[in-house]
Amino acid sequence: MGVTIMPRPAHRTRSRRKAIVRTPGGRVTIHYELGKPGPARCAICGKPLNGVPREIPSVLKKLAKTEKRPERPYGGYICPKCLSRLLREAVRATIH
Ligand SMILES: [Zn+2]
Repeated sequence: MGVTIMPRPAHRTRSRRKAIVRTPGGRVTIHYELGKPGPARCAICGKPLNGVPREIPSVLKKLAKTEKRPERPYGGYICPKCLSRLLREAVRATIH
């Protein structure tokens, strides 16, 4: 696919991901991008969190706050399962 060319010295590193991109002029070129980070994980059980985008900070900066984490207490930090368990435990602790 396309012609491979020698990347410039700054791009001769495996920390950058090759992305094959079709430009508006119809050419297929290689773009050297930063790799995406791993998914955000629950602070308690370590499961990947839903509703939290896997993006590099320069892309996250452009998103609205509501696009970056769920709109609930501890959203983007604790998974819903762990949160509901903690809330139950907190309520039960106040009763007894
Ligand atoms: Zn959890």
